[in-house]
Amino acid sequence: MAKGLFPVDKLKSIQTPFYYYDTELLRQTLRKINEEANKHEGFVVHYAIKANANPKILRIIREAGLGADCVSGGEIDASMKAGFPSGKIVFAGVGKSDWEINLGLDYDIFCFNVESIPELEVINELAAAKGKTARVAFRLNPNVGAHTHANITTGLAENKFGIAMQDMEKVIEEAEHLANVKFVGLHFHIGSQILDMGDFEALCNRVNELQDQLEKHHIRVEHINVGGGLGIDYEHPNRLSIPDFKAYFDTYAKKLKLRSGQTLHFELGRAVVAQCGSLITKTLYIKEGALKKFAIVDAGFTDLIRPALYQAYHKIENIMSEETKEAYDVVGPICESTDVFAKQIDLNKTKRGDLLAIRSAGAYGEIMASQYNCRKLPIGYMSDEI
Ligand SMILES: *Cc1c(COP(=O)(O)O)cnc(C)c1O
Repeated sequence: MAKGLFPVDKLKSIQTPFYYYDTELLRQTLRKINEEANKHEGFVVHYAIKANANPKILRIIREAGLGADCVSGGEIDASMKAGFPSGKIVFAGVGKSDWEINLGLDYDIFCFNVESIPELEVINELAAAKGKTARVAFRLNPNVGAHTHANITTGLAENKFGIAMQDMEKVIEEAEHLANVKFVGLHFHIGSQILDMGDFEALCNRVNELQDQLEKHHIRVEHINVGGGLGIDYEHPNRLSIPDFKAYFDTYAKKLKLRSGQTLHFELGRAVVAQCGSLITKTLYIKEGALKKFAIVDAGFTDLIRPALYQAYHKIENIMSEETKEAYDVVGPICESTDVFAKQIDLNKTKRGDLLAIRSAGAYGEIMASQYNCRKLPIGYMSDEI
């Protein structure tokens, strides 16, 4: 029963819909990440800002010592504002604008993860104009599939991301000819919501092959960055509120052959923040259709788009009712047929005014909100502040 997990009396007085973040769970999660990563020499963990850039969430993550993985100039700004040291910021993305590259250069960020030769040339040119040298890593497309939703797999040859493996030596050589970039590492990211450690193992094997190949050419790599992608249990947010970071880091420790002095970087997003957040929404109407019952709520896909975008499952709980369960379609108010959070799920008997918690919504929730239908953006509240 969800009742008891949430401070319902406090939540009742806040204008819905809104995000509610359990900061204690976030801190526990971060402690676990540090504990498991620190067991292995050379492991460095960054947080993928794009999962959730709420300033209060960022501050807690920065306090835990993680670096920041950014995919836009706006995210670099958000990281700097949250106090992440610029030397712990990495900047990825297939389409970096000049102003974004300049921003990264001005802040002397740790590394640009470069996705094409034209991009490398532009970074070199912009760095030269500032009399600087940019540290660059190449994002390689490892052609490793991930057993996840097709829209969130990124490491296949057909995806737009990264540089093809067969071009690896060519781009490294190119970098060595350019005066204002310094090649420091290789970068990979195979997708998101990955729960099968075998997928990460496949990436390790690929990295090992590529490193062997580079060694033959006497090319040394300082940093290997394997991206993020560790999934969470959307079905059991209460039972498995902290992802299995031990299995995740141990897989890399066992399977990826780090050379001496190398560091191994991770960029975790979802696994850090997803379980600490819930979207809290109020039931507006119960509509009895001919075939089924609808719980019409005041949150829509403008507040949480994952179900509409990826057919994603989020557990939904009525946090104010203990009556017997009944089946409902939980739908939002937006004028689109895809504005459905769940179909035919069991909820404790629900009436107008009941608050529902849409669970595991801390990642790719608040940050993806839009103002379609001229709606207000949802506010995020921290459990230790209300
Ligand atoms: C999105 C992304 C991540 C984080 O992915 P999660 O699945 O949230 O862990 C890490 N690195 C890159 C390059 C990304 O684009």
